[in-house]
Amino acid sequence: MIKLIIKIFLTIIALVLILAAAVFFQEVDPKQVKPGFTPHQFADTLANHTYDLDSLKAIIGDNKGLPEGFEIAAAIAYSAYPQLKDVNIDMILQPEGAPMESTFNIWTLFIPGKKHRQYRILLNDAEKTFFDPILLRSLPFDAQVGILAHELGHVVYYHQLNLFEIGKWGLNYLESDEFRATHERSTDLMPVYHGLGSQIYQYAYFVRKDSSCLEFFKGAQGFMDKYYMTDIELLEAMNNQRGSHLFQNAH
Ligand SMILES: [Zn+2]
Repeated sequence: MIKLIIKIFLTIIALVLILAAAVFFQEVDPKQVKPGFTPHQFADTLANHTYDLDSLKAIIGDNKGLPEGFEIAAAIAYSAYPQLKDVNIDMILQPEGAPMESTFNIWTLFIPGKKHRQYRILLNDAEKTFFDPILLRSLPFDAQVGILAHELGHVVYYHQLNLFEIGKWGLNYLESDEFRATHERSTDLMPVYHGLGSQIYQYAYFVRKDSSCLEFFKGAQGFMDKYYMTDIELLEAMNNQRGSHLFQNAH
């Protein structure tokens, strides 16, 4: 009996070591890549229009969760990513956590093939915390679309990786500030690549310059400017993307 237990124990250790080695030897690039298709170019201002949620739902697929109260903003953000049409994604409001975070149901990563994977975008909706001014409910409509499009950019990235690569990505993200900064800053370019540059610009501008965020930003500037693109940097990226059609700081 003892022998059997030792055998099982050693087998488990061996499997864990093989898995760890498989993760360790993966190479993952923190940078996002431009889509291989011409994306829809959205209007610079999406607020104050009427949208038909059912038409948007038909575009994005019925495997997408829409957070209550933010259905239209979420559906527009999803619609910018036609490559995610067959991917299961939920957006969940919750009373804790980072302001916004893209993650997955880890068990679904072990199922062969990627069609069973379930991704989740967790949206902090807590009351009266430090994050209040930058939570989804505090943002203007266009900024909401912009930041949700950033989060969906993470999903596009995860969906290209296999299980071991996701493991390596997670280790690098936690261990290396530089890897994390490169990944987050290039994820800020995903809305730009997908026709929602103006919306992520409006998010970056709002959290840095709106009077409701000044107190927050005073405490968070070091972090924000290191890991995310500033409004000025996003303007530059949009102008590079659009060539001659130059954006100007409208504010
Ligand atoms: Zn991010």
